[in-house]
Amino acid sequence: MCIFCKIINKEIPAHILHEDENFIVILDIMQATKGHTLIIPKKHSENIFNLEQTTISNIFPLVQKIAIRLKERLSLEGLNIINNNGKIAGQTVMHYHIHLIPRYVNDNLVITFDKTEQNFAELVKILK
Ligand code: AMP
Ligand code: ZN
Repeated sequence: MCIFCKIINKEIPAHILHEDENFIVILDIMQATKGHTLIIPKKHSENIFNLEQTTISNIFPLVQKIAIRLKERLSLEGLNIINNNGKIAGQTVMHYHIHLIPRYVNDNLVITFDKTEQNFAELVKILK
């Protein structure tokens, strides 16, 4: 059983901020910044590619609810919402989850996107 399923089953402890029938919201054990939070569906799915439609429909209202709670109760200046899918994308726990990472002045967290050269016309042909 994966580590988040164990948390959901209360086999290992976590700092729980919210729990309902379908989701558990916990503090990330490695706080990238103060208040770094994880939104986790209770039903185990590995990633976005196999997430159930009902989970997809229900998760973003909860993401917003927790985002607003973080904004109201911590003096944050911004918020990164991140979801890693697959090892190459940085996923280390193979149970779908969304990171909410509060941002503060001088928090020293660096999230960068380096520019690559791409053929936009070809990409639109493939992807539209
Ligand atoms: P990711 O790299 O996107 O798969 O994120 C997994 C996150 O889970 C990491 O930020 C870890 O710090 C966090 N994590 C791993 N184990 C635990 C745990 N027992 N309780 C809370 N967070 C955890
Ligand atoms: Zn799991």
